[in-house]
Amino acid sequence: MKAAVFHRPGSPLTIEEVSIGKPGPHEVLIRTSAVGVCHSDLHFVDGLMPHPAPVVLGHEAAGVVEQVGELVRTVKPGDHVVTCLSVYCGHCEHCLTGSLSLCVSPETRRTRDDAPRLAFQHRPMPQFANLSAFAEQMLVHEHACVAIRRDMPLDRAALIGCGVTTGTGAVINTAKVAPGETVAVVGCGGIGLAAVNGAALAGAGRIIAIDMLDGKLDLATQFGATDVISAKDTDVVKAVRDLTHGGVHHAFECIGLKATAEQAFGMLRRGGTATVIGMVKPGVMLDIDPLQLLQGKRLQGSVMGSNRFPVDMPRLVDFYMAGKLQLDQMISRRLRLEQINEAFDELRRGELARSVIVFGH
Ligand code: ZN
Ligand code: ZN
Repeated sequence: MKAAVFHRPGSPLTIEEVSIGKPGPHEVLIRTSAVGVCHSDLHFVDGLMPHPAPVVLGHEAAGVVEQVGELVRTVKPGDHVVTCLSVYCGHCEHCLTGSLSLCVSPETRRTRDDAPRLAFQHRPMPQFANLSAFAEQMLVHEHACVAIRRDMPLDRAALIGCGVTTGTGAVINTAKVAPGETVAVVGCGGIGLAAVNGAALAGAGRIIAIDMLDGKLDLATQFGATDVISAKDTDVVKAVRDLTHGGVHHAFECIGLKATAEQAFGMLRRGGTATVIGMVKPGVMLDIDPLQLLQGKRLQGSVMGSNRFPVDMPRLVDFYMAGKLQLDQMISRRLRLEQINEAFDELRRGELARSVIVFGH
């Protein structure tokens, strides 16, 4: 099969022939229909996060099941599926207490002694995020995908595979925003827009979107923001405090920077919670005034929106089909796999919501 291979930071991905195995007892072979190009892929391409290479990146995908292993009961050939990097075993302590996205059980992967799922130039190739989605096909554990309704367009379904689940899940599952509470979202890229939409779904009373770019603030309004603040030449913490008479119940950091994470914490009212969704560079430390903690304020992280994706993703699909989840405007451009490097250039410029690679089979 054809796949986009990452070789080393700073050099473009190349389209190569990569071999893919047959499904083991609990595995599923999926023909990829669409895959979003997410900011976390860029972190690896640019070397901010290390990963063994060569490797096929990509982790925000939807497709059609081609073949299943003999013990697979959750999906069948022909099913339309969304994949998720939060692969879960189903019986560890995290899984049994409802925190599927914290599962790290190795049994969902192949062992060193097994034949590899992927191989390149006759050598085993690591799988990225248990998915490696910048490819015509994916071979995944059955608990890394979920079937969705057939009338859902697959290019938009792909977005639910990472960014939308991460953003809406942080609001609904991690922070548990209650109807009427006030929300601020710092950064309105794909995940930030999803957080704004999640706050609207949760019934937040006031949803304040913050970004440097006016185009993204316009989009945020379409996604449910009630107020927008341009971060250009503005003290955003003061602006949020003024708007809300003392701060918000919930702030969501959706960029992954020290400054914006500290701002998110700074704009809370007494008892408020800041949730950091963005991927802050490893080793960077946050400065938080501990006295603020004595006002009952909390700072927390959110992994993949604390998802229970087999339940959450079909619900998100229903929200889209009912017109309550905005996905159409989130796709700024559709590209072929061969144009993948252009998608990364666009992400570096930071102007667009999201590019999606679509496969023409
Ligand atoms: Zn992602
Ligand atoms: Zn588990």
